[in-house]
Amino acid sequence: MSDDAPVARPRASLAITGAAELVTCAAAAVDLVGRVDGGVVAVADEQVIAAGTAGEVERAADLSGAWILDAAGGVVAPGFVDCHTHVVFAGSRVEEYAARVGGADTSELALRGIVTGILATVEMTRAASSDELVASAAERLAGMLRSGTTTAESKSGYGLTSEDEIRMLEVNQRLREMQPVDIVSTFLGAHEFPPERRRAAYIDEIVSEMIPRVAEEGLAEFCDVYCDDGYYSVEESRRILEAGANAGLKPKIHTDAYSHIGGSGLAADFPAVSADHLNHTTEDEMEGLAAAGVIGVVMPGLDFAVAHTRPFDARAMLERGMTLALATDICPGCWLESMQFVIALACRLYGFTPAAALRAATIGGAAALGQADKIGSLEPGKLADIAIFDVPRYEDLAYRLGRNAVRTVIKRGQVVVEASRT
Ligand SMILES: [Zn+2]
Repeated sequence: MSDDAPVARPRASLAITGAAELVTCAAAAVDLVGRVDGGVVAVADEQVIAAGTAGEVERAADLSGAWILDAAGGVVAPGFVDCHTHVVFAGSRVEEYAARVGGADTSELALRGIVTGILATVEMTRAASSDELVASAAERLAGMLRSGTTTAESKSGYGLTSEDEIRMLEVNQRLREMQPVDIVSTFLGAHEFPPERRRAAYIDEIVSEMIPRVAEEGLAEFCDVYCDDGYYSVEESRRILEAGANAGLKPKIHTDAYSHIGGSGLAADFPAVSADHLNHTTEDEMEGLAAAGVIGVVMPGLDFAVAHTRPFDARAMLERGMTLALATDICPGCWLESMQFVIALACRLYGFTPAAALRAATIGGAAALGQADKIGSLEPGKLADIAIFDVPRYEDLAYRLGRNAVRTVIKRGQVVVEASRT
């Protein structure tokens, strides 16, 4: 090819035009969200090939054969990355929730014979068939997709036996094959202690049986522990995360949710890919997490659902340079499918600006899953995971409360949700 030959532009299969604004959430965006008035996105097969002003996109991509999707004055954004979920579980704890909302505490619930907390769900999950687990999780994932989530992490942790933990991770595999939301699988055998086992014996089983099997069968990418008072100690957590890392499972940690026993120090020391909850994290520890590049995953919906007495301090985390991700933490204690609701809470109650919240819900979530090079923003080479919202500005996602603003969801270049506009 001679120097003056025209450079062939890649051919787009799809172009999204007519947006009031495009928010790319590009990693380098100075305004955090890469807002472009009237911006256009060009897609070829599964990938974004150009995103920017109409002129930029036309110079970068050949749109002549593309199917044109009209965003009709809406907002075009990356699909949400919900990076912390317990979406696979059986049953419901609505009775517990309703009683707690009515003022009952754990001892009153016990007197009334209502089994509560993680162990109540463990009982129901063990009793459920894998088909039942797949069906109920798929229903929740469909709700998440309709609300704009295109990638979700999914943890085990309601089995607490080798067999049931493996079964939960196999459910993740089946979910991945049967519906559009990409599933990132996390092993969380250390979510609680099974009531029928001795503590030390169960940890031995996690380390010497579960982790090797999970790794060998390729059932999870991450290993997570619940490091808090009454759950796993820092030393127990370190042992489990080390065993996971040695087997190729990347570390994540639930910590500082209800106590302060040193879990975020462990996360920075390791370092973990993400440290999640962080209600009791000190400012020094926030600096340590920022310096170690550990993503802070914060979950305003969980704090809301449990009426947390010490909500996390997002503003302090951002001021100390931490990269934050937002997640639903969907679980039986916080039945929340919508990242839009999470953004609204994050802005009104936790000091996020709408730009910081949108970034945390997209590229931040991708970073918490170690996938910031692949998803979470609309940039050439990334997956074409796109949400179109029926609002004129992205700030409306924080402003118009309790409404699903999604009009269209595109997953890997395919339209997978088209909401009725009547
Ligand atoms: Zn969790």
